[in-house]
Amino acid sequence: MRYRWPDGHQSAAVLSFDFDAESGFIFREPEKAKRSLAGLEERRFGPRVGVDRMLRLLDRLKLRASFYIPGWTVENHLAESKRIRDAGHEIGAHGNVHEAVDFLDAAQEEKIMRDQLAILRDLLGVRPVGYRSPSWDVNVWTPEILKSHEFLYDSSLMGNDIPYDVPTDHGPLTEIPVQWLLDDAPLFRHVYGATNAIADPARVFDLWSREFTGMHAENGCFVLTCHPFVSGRASRIALVEDLVRFMRKQRGVWFTTCDEVARWHASTGGRASSGAGAGKARAAKPAARRR
Ligand SMILES: [Zn+2]
Repeated sequence: MRYRWPDGHQSAAVLSFDFDAESGFIFREPEKAKRSLAGLEERRFGPRVGVDRMLRLLDRLKLRASFYIPGWTVENHLAESKRIRDAGHEIGAHGNVHEAVDFLDAAQEEKIMRDQLAILRDLLGVRPVGYRSPSWDVNVWTPEILKSHEFLYDSSLMGNDIPYDVPTDHGPLTEIPVQWLLDDAPLFRHVYGATNAIADPARVFDLWSREFTGMHAENGCFVLTCHPFVSGRASRIALVEDLVRFMRKQRGVWFTTCDEVARWHASTGGRASSGAGAGKARAAKPAARRR
């Protein structure tokens, strides 16, 4: 067995949702975001419609999920953020205004980390144990910042498909890995000039169910990432429901959340991994904190 899951489970499965709303648009294209009602409204579909559809879906399926919410989104869509919290889902940090950290130096990243944690604490009463970087963008010094703020885990890297350790000067940070294949945005979002087309939900069901079947056989940690403004659309909500029903036909799947996976991983002291393909992250030390 490549990874040992609790209670004899063969694999783990997490539904995760990045509740960005307008935040990523405001960070990446601040001038356009001041005038483009079209761009803003596309993303407001998330808080206006998508979040509640997802909450109803999770309620129907009796599943707890992991939601990652930027500070800006908590401030500007507080009622929806509270409904997510009050439904009992995990809430993790996801930047302040969805900052792609590639644009930031360590000091700027540290300030943004403090700001987002203050918003989550003051407006939601949440102290997150998990972090997902906006756009899955992570600098070599980011794990150290997360560890210094006592995060239990990060869920932004793609170096494995089982939990693994990222070394820092303050000890290992648990990584709950993600992958582009299991992200709704590149499959479904319309972007002018991009090579992707809007995918048929049946094709995405085929893609995701095949990946799940493979990862289940490999003792993997299947982390699906959806966005309320992308997968909150009617046919795509149905797709997620179909997928969960498909997954439930397999025996031995631990349906859980990233915080529970991280707690399990930490409780084993990293000894849940064994055999080929497990391995640990190699330390990627910054030569100097650039910029
Ligand atoms: Zn995001």
